[in-house]
Amino acid sequence: MRAWVLRDTRGPASYALERVEDPEPGPGEVRVRLRASALNHLDLWVAHGLPRPPCLPHVSGADGAGVVELVGEEVLTPRPGDEVVIDPATSCGACAACANGAVPFCGEFRIVGEHRWGTHAEAVVVPATNAVAKPPTLGWEEAAAFGLVVSSAVRMARRARIGAGDRVLVVGVGGGSATAAFLVARALGAEVLATSTRPQARAWASAHGAAATFDSAGPFDEEVRAATDGRGVDVVVDNVGTATFERSLRALARGGRLVTNGSTSGRTAELHLPTLFWRQLEVIGATMNDHEEFREGVRLVEAGDVRIPVERTVPFEELPRAIELLEAGGQIGKLVLAR
Ligand SMILES: [Zn+2]
Repeated sequence: MRAWVLRDTRGPASYALERVEDPEPGPGEVRVRLRASALNHLDLWVAHGLPRPPCLPHVSGADGAGVVELVGEEVLTPRPGDEVVIDPATSCGACAACANGAVPFCGEFRIVGEHRWGTHAEAVVVPATNAVAKPPTLGWEEAAAFGLVVSSAVRMARRARIGAGDRVLVVGVGGGSATAAFLVARALGAEVLATSTRPQARAWASAHGAAATFDSAGPFDEEVRAATDGRGVDVVVDNVGTATFERSLRALARGGRLVTNGSTSGRTAELHLPTLFWRQLEVIGATMNDHEEFREGVRLVEAGDVRIPVERTVPFEELPRAIELLEAGGQIGKLVLAR
């Protein structure tokens, strides 16, 4: 098969389109012939060696959709010919955490495209559990685009206990992860507010039901308070990190929760402890998804409650161009490689 291969981690320029052996599915695994894959910032981090792939050469790509072409021993479903989307969260399937469905807490938790070969190839091998029936109403590109961001948004929403009537502020809407968090919170019946430095992203949020939008570069904490009768919001979703953390915390109502599954602007933040305890706030981490959360993401997308916009589709052979677009930012929604 052809695959976008990393033989070193000197950055996105290290990606090279090569011919490699088709990966063989082991017991409990399936091989999926991919029709589309979607880019994530993870593809940039991995190319920079953050983290370094466990072995080289490496194929990145966490999101994809395609047709099952070969199944390993012990696999009952899916069957060859089935159309599937890839759940990027894999685990041992046998430990106590896995038995409880807590895939991200498994000691052998692995992400497709980060710790094992991923979807920027003509085929990928994943555990059969991670090949989930594609909703028939979705085209290949749309099916490839939503997996990682929607399922991890479902996990964040659950960990932050987002429910109907909650006021939720999503910081940095426009990026795939924040856009998914915005749409999932809205689908759960929350009143959603959003920040972005980009007027175009704020306009997108307003057009998709945001009660109010704010400039991430401005005093959005004060503006959120002014827009909520001085109260603040119940939940802030903040994947921006260093640049916005303090203001995000100050935008919370008493007893509010800040949930994060990323830190694109930096890894550390200062936490004013009296604010934390006097206002009885919670800071909650989340990462990726378990299988049930992935299926809930599929259900939300299939029902039409969450639709992740596909910003641009480029041919499989043009990964470097898609990476350039991803690095430049500015898109709302996902970049997809079509086969
Ligand atoms: Zn396990």
